[in-house]
Amino acid sequence: MSILNADLHCHSVVSDGTLTPEELAARAASNGVELWSLTDHDEIGGQHRAAAAARAQGLRYLTGTEISVTFAGETVHIVGLGFDPADEGMRQGLEQTRGGRGGRAREIAAGLATAGIPGTYEGALKYVGNPALISRTHFARYLVETGVCKDTAEVFRRYLTEGKPGYVPHRWAALKDAVRWIREAGGVAVIAHPARYKFTANEEYALFTEFKAHGGRAVEVVTGSHTVAEYARYADTAREFGLAASRGSDFHSPGESHTDLGQLPFLPAELTPVWDLLADRIQ
Ligand code: AMP
Ligand code: MN
Ligand code: MN
Ligand code: MN
Repeated sequence: MSILNADLHCHSVVSDGTLTPEELAARAASNGVELWSLTDHDEIGGQHRAAAAARAQGLRYLTGTEISVTFAGETVHIVGLGFDPADEGMRQGLEQTRGGRGGRAREIAAGLATAGIPGTYEGALKYVGNPALISRTHFARYLVETGVCKDTAEVFRRYLTEGKPGYVPHRWAALKDAVRWIREAGGVAVIAHPARYKFTANEEYALFTEFKAHGGRAVEVVTGSHTVAEYARYADTAREFGLAASRGSDFHSPGESHTDLGQLPFLPAELTPVWDLLADRIQ
């Protein structure tokens, strides 16, 4: 059933969002969301709170996470939905994936210091809700607070993306491992916001082909980081590869995110919604 206000992608203070799981559940409910998932980066520490808050709000809930993966030299995000959060393989895989973030953050700060901006490691830490999950977003918030840039988009453009002084190359999880952790924990793997990757047509084809071969089953079609033309494009890709489709705002913060929870268009009616694959995992 495509006509369901499902929002299966957002972030809390457990990763790089600014709201608690409880605040997100309340916001989702008041925006009319019917099925929700909290998908913190490389982390499931918020799942118990999110599921309990969803229950309190009368929202249906799927467990979630967004795993950082390195594929063809680029960072790709794989959302996992409906897995068992107690699964040991999943827990260990995520712990390993986020393990490099502390050292990477020190290197980001060193790069920014070279560009004449000192003290950013300590500054970013003020915005971190989970010490195991320091992200570029926390640096971006600090650089906005201190007036170095006017918004986080400018920080990424000038300082935190490839070729810029605070950019640190990093090797995240392998695609096949991320998909396997999700699958073996009983969940469904979803390629997040595919239009955001700087892949050639061949590389993108390889991503979808390998994802599918590893047991991945869905792709985000309607997301806060796609244009309307990109909804149509990835609806075609979903059909071409026989993948189900997902819908999620990728909401991070009231001040920063241009797409709020539950406000996107519905999925195109002819696609199989990812929640149809997860009917028995909905809480
Ligand atoms: P990290 O996992 O530390 O590399 O941080 C990635 C996060 O940074 C993403 O999940 C987004 O929340 C945020 N991000 C990435 N690119 C941008 C951008 N151009 N503008 C604003 N936020 C961004
Ligand atoms: Mn993020
Ligand atoms: Mn992402
Ligand atoms: Mn996200």
